[in-house]
Amino acid sequence: MVESNTRIYLDYNASAPILPQAAQGVAHVLEMAGNPSSIHRDGRGVRALLDEARDAVGHFVNVPPTSITFTSGGTEANTTAVLGSLHAGLVSSVLCSASEHPSVLEHVDPMNRIHVKENGVVDLDHLEARLKTLDGPALVCVMFANNETGVLQPIQDVSELTHKYDGLVLCDSVQGPGKVGFDATLIGADFVTLSAHKIGGPPGVGALVNLCGAELRPVLVGGGQEKKQRSGTENSPGIVGFGAAAQAMVGEAFEEELSDMQKRFEAALQEAVPRVRIVGLESNRLPNTTCIVKEGVPADQQVIKLDLAGISVSAGSACSSGKVAESHVLKAMGLNKGVTKSAIRVSFGRETKWNELERFVEVWASL
Ligand code: PLP
Repeated sequence: MVESNTRIYLDYNASAPILPQAAQGVAHVLEMAGNPSSIHRDGRGVRALLDEARDAVGHFVNVPPTSITFTSGGTEANTTAVLGSLHAGLVSSVLCSASEHPSVLEHVDPMNRIHVKENGVVDLDHLEARLKTLDGPALVCVMFANNETGVLQPIQDVSELTHKYDGLVLCDSVQGPGKVGFDATLIGADFVTLSAHKIGGPPGVGALVNLCGAELRPVLVGGGQEKKQRSGTENSPGIVGFGAAAQAMVGEAFEEELSDMQKRFEAALQEAVPRVRIVGLESNRLPNTTCIVKEGVPADQQVIKLDLAGISVSAGSACSSGKVAESHVLKAMGLNKGVTKSAIRVSFGRETKWNELERFVEVWASL
């Protein structure tokens, strides 16, 4: 058993702990003088590190480094793909699944939100019906994996369908890489977005991968950095930390370990709390994410009680103010208010020990 004064961190989908290699990369660049746009030796030194980081991130998700634009995170990468393709006239409308992250969802007219089925998977029939009614090409945004439930989406099918109607596909892949094997070239999407702090890199840095080569209208204009796709002096420490995390993750075969742990964890939950509801249980899910419901106990109360017991988890629906709203993801799956207001998300990682999950089960069962 875990000592009662040791903290247990089960909130990897919010932010994974920074990897030592990434922390070292950040610290190293912070000590360097030099703007990567300067042509003197100091500037060139930083530029060389950014180039290495771009190669490492490209290698991690199997894309050419030239397709990568570094951004301030997943939110900016999604925003750039959505607004950039609309403003460049590449598409005339934007559709998204109803369970997207708010950084996509909030750009999209409620009429253009595609249903997800009860199992959390996007409804391809609804997507096709909506695509048929449109006059011009659409940007279709479907995430690789949901941050609250871990449900994986059929991105290849979404891409095939969208391309049949001459549209473009944005796949928010912030959750996925580092948890399951991920090859951006196999999913057929035109744009893929990533975030460093979900893979053990620093927060405040991410990437937009442009695989179709279409020119987006930049959201940030100014100095023309990142091949004019994203102006502003590069976050060199962040980008180098991102590259170091990506490099550390390449070829790491821990998907199976996570999956074994998840099976064991969910079996233990089922034993401790008979008829426990695990959201998306019947769907393909990330092997590190389990969304569970304790009806009658509001999610924020569960999170607080677990916190007092030394365990960090999130209410799936927590917003930045820390308040817990009804989860739009669970609502989109047709779950009732009793469920949507009392679901929490447990997300673990490769540093998680079995006895930590065991302790979680003990505390949660007693709430
Ligand atoms: N997309 C998904 C699926 C996420 O889970 C998150 C963060 O929680 C984001 C986008 C936003 O990423 P960032 O925090 O880097 O802005």
